[in-house]
Amino acid sequence: MPVDVAGTLAALKSRIESAARAVGRDPCSVALVAVSKVQPDDRIEAALAAGQRIFGENRVQEAVARWRERRHRFPNLELRLIGPLQTNKAKDAVQLFDVIETLDRPKLARALKSAMDETGRRPRLLIQVNTGVEPQKAGIEPAGLDALLTVAREECGLRIDGLMCIPPVDESPALHFALLAKLASERGLTVLSMGMSGDFETAIRYGATHVRVGTALFGERVRPVD
Ligand SMILES: *Cc1c(COP(=O)(O)O)cnc(C)c1O
Repeated sequence: MPVDVAGTLAALKSRIESAARAVGRDPCSVALVAVSKVQPDDRIEAALAAGQRIFGENRVQEAVARWRERRHRFPNLELRLIGPLQTNKAKDAVQLFDVIETLDRPKLARALKSAMDETGRRPRLLIQVNTGVEPQKAGIEPAGLDALLTVAREECGLRIDGLMCIPPVDESPALHFALLAKLASERGLTVLSMGMSGDFETAIRYGATHVRVGTALFGERVRPVD
């Protein structure tokens, strides 16, 4: 079924704007990350044609295939990695992405540092926090955040811009957004990537600077994501 991406994009932007205004925030302080993972090309082209320039992908190889050539057509594109990153893909990720949102362990900080030295590219970095302390989920637990920040900054010389989280599916996301906002503000970190199709308005209420929206923009993904 064809999806009216331009139409849903416009509707989504107005919901983001209203959610920001409702809490006295400047709508420009919230960026929409269009999550394009596993979406067909025609929907991505439609989003690009409608002016969308910030995209999120959760797998490095898939993102390289989709964006390596395409990115040359859009010099102001911003590609963000929002899925877990294996150290052996760090170099590919550094070469493609403008922002990596999922730094979550010292070993990866070291791999990113080497990849940056090797390639001369320096994508901006967020740390993913496992706010729900879920064993199966990526992200550093809140208790380990300061130690990871120290390794990233002092040992690796990396700059960390902010934090990202994915709340547990069966809990109220507001508690997790509030926790992430608190962890960030206590540490002077200004970027907060939180909120997805079902809860981005709540995330904006708690200070999200980036909301990551897939299905509410592009429609259902055409094949399941692992
Ligand atoms: C897939 C994904 C999203 C988008 O989810 P929707 O519910 O489709 O909006 C956001 N963030 C991450 C990390 C994802 O993997």
